Amino acid sequence: MKIIDISMAIEPTMTVYKNKEAKKPKFHQSAFFDANGVYETDITLNLHSGTHIDFPLHTIPRGKNSNHEVLDTFIGDAKVFDLSHVADAICLSDIKDFSIEQGDFVLFKTRNSQIEEFDFNFVYLALDAATYLSDIGIRGVGIDTLGIERNQPNHPTHDVLLLGDVIILEGLRLRHVQEGTYELICLPLKISNVEASLTRAVLVQRT
Ligand SMILES: [Zn+2]
Repeated sequence: MKIIDISMAIEPTMTVYKNKEAKKPKFHQSAFFDANGVYETDITLNLHSGTHIDFPLHTIPRGKNSNHEVLDTFIGDAKVFDLSHVADAICLSDIKDFSIEQGDFVLFKTRNSQIEEFDFNFVYLALDAATYLSDIGIRGVGIDTLGIERNQPNHPTHDVLLLGDVIILEGLRLRHVQEGTYELICLPLKISNVEASLTRAVLVQRT
């Protein structure tokens, strides 16, 4: 059995969406051995910085939040598809011949995984592909950058996925992952009443 880490490291200098300073985590040491006998750290962090799950509340008013998810969604088989040749957006024509079935969790490896800094022209999931995946009834879709869409007005890709109860997993790192089927574990932290949650996402490869 091999465990492949596909998560971003949370650190002050990490890459964040559109390089916005406010999205960078702030670390603060709140207890020190000399003064307090122990060492403790506080972190201020936007829930969309780092590898995270978007719940429907992210773009759907009164949508389901982090309280409502069944944990089966976050543990189970996932199919990694290599779309490194896609230059701009993953469209329906790029994925329609893939073996994708109801209940699948699909992860798209793109040229985003080759770049560590934020790419304003990152490869995203186009609406026609998102609609196709939502119609199939997959349980989740993951992408190797901090957004599943780029600058689409009114974020239709998010909406069609989240309205279809498709969990979105953003901020994956897949450069070292080959196309194939793995067990995905991406349990969200148990933070109540929020629209997103951090996760340590890993792929388990049975050998
Ligand atoms: Zn997000």
